[in-house]
Amino acid sequence: MLCGITTQQQFAPTMTDFRPTYDKSFDRIAADRLPALLRAMPKAELHMHIEGSLEPELIFALAQRNGVSIPYASVEELRKAYAFTNLQSFLDIYYAGASVLLKEQDFYDMAWAYLERAAADNVVHTEMFFDPQTHTARGVPMETVVNGLHRACTDARSKLGVSAALILCFLRHLGGLGARGGAHQPLDAGGGGAQAGAHAAALRALAHQLGAQRGLTP
Ligand SMILES: [Zn+2]
Repeated sequence: MLCGITTQQQFAPTMTDFRPTYDKSFDRIAADRLPALLRAMPKAELHMHIEGSLEPELIFALAQRNGVSIPYASVEELRKAYAFTNLQSFLDIYYAGASVLLKEQDFYDMAWAYLERAAADNVVHTEMFFDPQTHTARGVPMETVVNGLHRACTDARSKLGVSAALILCFLRHLGGLGARGGAHQPLDAGGGGAQAGAHAAALRALAHQLGAQRGLTP
């Protein structure tokens, strides 16, 4: 049982019988109690694109720290642009945000800002998607990305009590060769600790396997 939803115990082979039932006692919860109850409820966040979690304040802070100029004059202007109207206007903000991520600490700070918000919402487990190609295409080494994110995951467990995992994404428009090539970036197992190195190596092996399955060579 999850969130009071159960599947029916007995069913006849018709589609309508696959509808979930729910615990009717939920109906007795006063509506005004629900927001607090939902906030307190432990949650798992299973589809979080971490680059998309960047808030305008952090984008501006990182832009300043790294001397990167972005096409928005102020935090407010950037926040207004978040009311995107189509995929392209979303991607414009996404890439402008990603452009300020250059060093390992930047990736850590991005993940940590999200993880603190998640912990405040009582998220106890999260799986963070990340797009290495968005960064390797700008000359940021794969290990910089993975080490920063991995360190935030490790700290989340010890400091926030949140278990956090990473899921590597490939950009579909770059195809399988792009995915396999990106995954062949050199990874330093020593630089960010053996665990982060192992994490990165596992991701690289997975990418290699996916490429091999499709008959691709880097
Ligand atoms: Zn997605």
